[in-house]
Amino acid sequence: MSDTHAARRDRAQQRVAALDADAALITHLPNVRYLTGLDSSNAALLVPATGGCVLGTDSRYTLAAQRDSPELELLTERFLVPAFGALVAERGYSRLLFEAQHMTVASHQKLAAEADGVELAPFGREIEELRIVKDDGELALLGAACRISSEALEQLLPTIRPGITERQLATAVERRMVDLRADGIAFDTIVASGPNGALPHYRPGERVLARGDLVTIDFGATSGGYHADMTRTVSLGEPAQWQREIYDLVARAQQAGIDAARPGAGLGDVDAAARDLIGEAGYGGHFKHGLGHGVGLEVHEAPMIGYGSEGRLAARVPVTIEPGLYLPGRGGVRIEDVIVVNGDGSSGTAGLLTTTTRELLAL
Ligand code: ZN
Ligand code: ZN
Repeated sequence: MSDTHAARRDRAQQRVAALDADAALITHLPNVRYLTGLDSSNAALLVPATGGCVLGTDSRYTLAAQRDSPELELLTERFLVPAFGALVAERGYSRLLFEAQHMTVASHQKLAAEADGVELAPFGREIEELRIVKDDGELALLGAACRISSEALEQLLPTIRPGITERQLATAVERRMVDLRADGIAFDTIVASGPNGALPHYRPGERVLARGDLVTIDFGATSGGYHADMTRTVSLGEPAQWQREIYDLVARAQQAGIDAARPGAGLGDVDAAARDLIGEAGYGGHFKHGLGHGVGLEVHEAPMIGYGSEGRLAARVPVTIEPGLYLPGRGGVRIEDVIVVNGDGSSGTAGLLTTTTRELLAL
């Protein structure tokens, strides 16, 4: 992977040069990982416009840094931001970019105190933008994470029945993903049953699943740092008329979103393809979140597909498509898949990485 990381750093250096700066200090950990391969809870990367990058981390990660990025100059230090501040002052830099979306006010103060005489300017989300289009290696890791997630749910379907609690089901899903060789879980699993399904980001609790519930399960595995994110809603027993009606509507809205997610499509238009369908059916007020988001080294990353989002989709961009309907006091439905926008301009289900059936299952 080290050639890959070197190529990514080249692109980052071009961005720094284009912004007329001497260097950028990358402190957002997924960005550091993207540019170096290092998975550390304390790391930063100095990316100069020209010359070699400097990777900073503390002594707990020295061996990993030497293994993953042997070609990089290494700065071993616990408090990285002031250390890099001192380094750029020593190098006589006049303009340093920093990741304003991620740096705390306190860190910025420490950086400014050490980087005496150096102008500090925000870098924007330049590295996040480089991360949007994925290479083959990234898509393979994401595909593995999605495969594990799909398989874990399929294996557990026969065990989802009245009498178990939401938390038990959530834990079972997470354990099964690890058994299937996930590196870990992408985020805390959501299991929302019955009326709890009306809360999109509900935390699973002690409620016991009951016959007549719709149960929404939102979960994902990680593989090599890449995050899957999928949701299925199942019915315990034969669904009631209203349950089938909202499920079918969400399923149709999701398909419309998937069909619209082509290279070159406007992000707001992809959202509208699903949202308009729900609005026309009279449920417009019950779908309040965005239609989807990018996935990769973070579970939520660019591009965001929401109401009025600007920007366009490109080929090789993995995104979720996840419409939902939430009826207070009654329940909800969400269906979420990860798709890769196809390079050949085709659409439909060919790019689906999460493969569990999207039919309404009555368990
Ligand atoms: Zn999700
Ligand atoms: Zn999601």
